[in-house]
Amino acid sequence: MVSLRSYQSDFIRKIRIAFSQKKRKVCCVAGCGAGKTVLASFMCASHNDKNENNYCWFLVHRQELIEQTLNTFKMFGLNTDRIFVGMYQTVSRRSSETFRKPTLIICDEAHHILAKSWKKIIDAFEDVPIVGLTATPCRSDNKPLGNAFDELCTTVSVKWLIEHKYLSNFEYYAPKIEFEERRKGTDFDQMFITSQFMERKIYGDVLKYINPNKKTIIYCPSIPFSKLMADKINEHFANNIAVHFDGDTPKKERANIIENFRNGNIKILCNVDLIGEGFDVPDCEYCILLRPTLSLSLFIQQSMRCMRYKEGKTAMIIDMVGNCYRHGLPDDDRDWSLEFKPRLIREKNADSQDVIVRQCKKCFRVYKGNGRICPYCFNDNGKTKKQIEEDEKAELERINAIDKRNKNIEVATAKDFGELVKIGIARKYKDPAFWATKVLQSRKAKELAKEKRRAEREAKKQSKQKI
Ligand SMILES: [Zn+2]
Repeated sequence: MVSLRSYQSDFIRKIRIAFSQKKRKVCCVAGCGAGKTVLASFMCASHNDKNENNYCWFLVHRQELIEQTLNTFKMFGLNTDRIFVGMYQTVSRRSSETFRKPTLIICDEAHHILAKSWKKIIDAFEDVPIVGLTATPCRSDNKPLGNAFDELCTTVSVKWLIEHKYLSNFEYYAPKIEFEERRKGTDFDQMFITSQFMERKIYGDVLKYINPNKKTIIYCPSIPFSKLMADKINEHFANNIAVHFDGDTPKKERANIIENFRNGNIKILCNVDLIGEGFDVPDCEYCILLRPTLSLSLFIQQSMRCMRYKEGKTAMIIDMVGNCYRHGLPDDDRDWSLEFKPRLIREKNADSQDVIVRQCKKCFRVYKGNGRICPYCFNDNGKTKKQIEEDEKAELERINAIDKRNKNIEVATAKDFGELVKIGIARKYKDPAFWATKVLQSRKAKELAKEKRRAEREAKKQSKQKI
């Protein structure tokens, strides 16, 4: 039987409560390192144990994950006779009669569900409870999953997992490469980025951050750049430590690469998005991000790839494309919702923070928020650009206010028309005489108003005395 950590048991309890409250589609947010596979295995096993007629479906979104998942289930000692592992696409395409009817459906990487195929599955098995598992319950354009689910269950945070040694601590560096951004669809145009990287030979900059003794995964904007990057690393360190691989790399060769990475013959894996969710890659220590992205899911997946727990390890994330300025840090607390886009939760006045992270000018580590003092080396990094601008604006407003007050005093102390005209000339007014007349008229009007008020007060007083 699969054994659970205590927070995982709590999580399972939460999910059960949701189902008992007549929710049917429950989205479970289990971040990287929270043990999504363990949770899924436990759910399948305990569901099938309850009744011999129970039958679980586990849906994945890539063919190669079917075998991997079945192997994992077997590794956990599950009887897979009553577990069907299949792809969303296949299941939604075929008529529901061709399958043995499930009594529980678990969807892996539930943020990938597409409205159309999802609806087909939901409609085909109207009375079957559905569990969606994901680390990031939002779509690739960061939009919420909306009515695809009825309930959202969350468990411990990344920060908690680090504190309790289920994930390694990390240091985040952001030595940014300058490049022009251009959108394509919901993300950046990666070929446009690639052409700039190639033209400006940025692999030279990347080499400076590579430690040939550390297991590293490099996320590139495109396959041509990833291949080039691997070549340049090997040229530079001259001992075939780096390899590029992608979806077209034959299965056997891929397995071979992974094995060599595991045993340390290969130190650096260059890829685009192959080493993403679900894909089993041995532990690594460094992640280098060369693919700018607007997708929070992708950012979290890629940056956290080096955080698997190992005693004494500090993971290094080297973000050369400024993703942290778009998304924050991997261990930031986020407010997940089915209704709105994920929001960063920051301890203090998060709304007034003009930048979500800052890079220390002395130790170069990236830290949360817009504070001046680096929490690592206590260097005073001064004010942020926006803070300086705001201060300047406030100062300007103060000067303007003083100036205005002085001008008013000058006018008020002018005794007659002649003096007023002089002021008008000094201030380069278009028609100083006209202006002076206006000032005098307004003075007169004020005096009259004052006189009137005084007369009224007097009248009131006298009428009171009469009474
Ligand atoms: Zn510092």
